[in-house]
This record gives sequence, structure tokens and C-alpha cells, in this order.
Amino acid sequence: MTISTEQIIMELRKSKNTIATEAQELGLLKQNSNLNSLINALQTTINLDELLPIFHVELLKIVSHSGVTYEHDQLNISTKFGQRSNHKCEYDLSIENTYLGKLTFMRRVRFSEPELETIEKSIGALLYPLKNTLLYFQAIQSAHTDPLTGVLNRSTLQSVFQKETSLSKRHHSELTLVTLDIDFFKAVNDTYGHAAGDLALQEVTKCIERTARESDHIFRIGGEEFAVLLNATDLKGAELFAERLRRAVQSVSIHYANAEFNVTVSMGVTSYRENEALDTMMERGDKALYEAKQTGRNKAVSA
Ligand code: GH3
Ligand code: MG
Ligand code: MG
Repeated sequence: MTISTEQIIMELRKSKNTIATEAQELGLLKQNSNLNSLINALQTTINLDELLPIFHVELLKIVSHSGVTYEHDQLNISTKFGQRSNHKCEYDLSIENTYLGKLTFMRRVRFSEPELETIEKSIGALLYPLKNTLLYFQAIQSAHTDPLTGVLNRSTLQSVFQKETSLSKRHHSELTLVTLDIDFFKAVNDTYGHAAGDLALQEVTKCIERTARESDHIFRIGGEEFAVLLNATDLKGAELFAERLRRAVQSVSIHYANAEFNVTVSMGVTSYRENEALDTMMERGDKALYEAKQTGRNKAVSA
């Protein structure tokens, strides 16, 4: 039997098409198995700090990208994995009317349509795990924060202190504590009412937040008492901080109903001494604060 050249060419075309289809199917299979691996990996944590890196790493196996950013303004979350680049695709995430933040994927070259489809499939797998990690994140956050002022609560001081003291040891840097108490606060409540007192607490908090650095930790440790842990700051630096804060608080006019009033604060400033316990450092700070109260208020005393 003789086969014509045309027939040979047709057969070759057929087998080329078969190979191409098989290759495409294999590619899809591989992609599906990577997608399954991504889905499984996303089920392994309810911690946001772990979920997003897992998503980034698993997605890299399916769609090449240089970096991913995740932002959630209301929850004050902004994280980045990998490198920023000029081509971006952005997704606002939500599920059942709950906003889940914004994901941005970046790389040097434009994403193709099939790649965008794959990214969207992967996002579909991310939504429920992300919703759960955000709920967990919020629960942890509210356990650590004071509801009136939004700063950290007293029970969080110990764990932050532990973390900061080990960092200060590692970096041979100084750590200081400023304890602060509003002066004659009982009189504020008695004169203007409890709600005005609450507003004053919020205004003092704002002053501390404006004066402190991003890396400082602010705690409400009692009714009208606050503590600020300043890392990489020596006693001199903390004294400067306390003086700026004293002036800031004193100059804020608090408006409540038809009343307008000011408050002042007294402060104790002290540096961490190697290996001491939080209570020991706090006691020294309290003594200095007591001295500030005894010697005129609206001032800071160092110990
Ligand atoms: P000093 O200058 O010696 O600190 O005087 P003080 O009046 O500030 O001190 P004192 O400890 O006698 O008063 C603290 C007041 O703080 C009493 C309490 O009613 C008030 N207080 C505590 N927690 C809150 C709060 O959450 N809201 C309001 N409005 N007042 C509070
Ligand atoms: Mg007090
Ligand atoms: Mg007071």
C-alpha cells in the first residue's frame, strides 16, 4: 500500500494536534493539582500572618508574580509579600456583604487572560479561609484593646514587655517606660460629668498617639492611668517625649456639651534594667509618678 505525501502530512497534523491537546490536558491537570494543593494549604491555619504567605507561595506554583499586597483599611492591616512591580491587578474581596480587604498582584509583564482566570479561581479558594482568619484576628485584637480608647489594655502589658525586653537585649538598645496619670481627674467627672471624663480620656489618648512613634506601645493600665513603652529610647529620649506630651495634653481644649476645659498629666519616667521583672520596673515608675504628683503635678519625674 502506498501512502501519498498529503496523507502523511494529514497524519502528522493529526498527531501534532493530539500531542498539543494532551499537553494542554497535562497542563490543566498540573494546574488543577496545584490549585488543590493551594486549597488544602489554605485550610491549615486561622492565623492571618500565616494565611497570606501560604497563599503567596502556593499561587507562585500556578501563576508567576513578583509580589502581592493585602490591605484592609478598617482593620488597619497592610502587608506585602515579595517585590512590588509596575503591572498590577487588584481585587476588592468580599463575601456575603462582608468586606475582606484588597489584594493586589504585581509583576514586570502584564498578566494574560488565562492567568487572570487562574488568579480569580485561587481567590475563590481564599475567601472563606480569609473570612475566618479576619474574625479570629478581630477577636484577638479586641481581647488586647481597651474599648474606650482603643489602645492596648493592662493584661497585654506583660507579653509586650517580654517581647520588647528580649529585643532590647538582642539589639543592645534601651527600653523606657513612661507612666502617666491625669491630674485631678475626679474633679473633671464631678464638674462636667462622667461622659466628659470619658471624652477627656480619649483626647489624652490621641495626644499620646500623636506624640509617640509608630513602634511605641501605649496601654491604658487603670481608670485614668496610661503606660507607654518606648523601645530603642534612652532615659534622655524618654524625658524629651514626656515633656512634649505634657505640653501637648495641656494645650488641648476639650469641648463637651457647652463646657470647655483642659486637663494636665503627671508622669514617671524610668529605664529598663537588665533582667528585672515588669513589676520592679513599674514600681520604680510609680514612685517617680508619685513624686511628680507630690511636687506640683503637670510634670515628669525620672527614676
Ligand atoms: P490625682 O491628680 O492625684 O491623680 O487626682 P485624681 O482626681 O485624678 O485621682 P483619683 O484617683 O482620686 O481619681 C481618679 C478618678 O478617675 C476617679 C474615677 O471616677 C475616674 N475614672 C476612672 N475610670 C474612669 C473612666 O473610665 N471614665 C471616667 N469618666 N472616669 C474614670
Ligand atoms: Mg490615678
Ligand atoms: Mg489622677
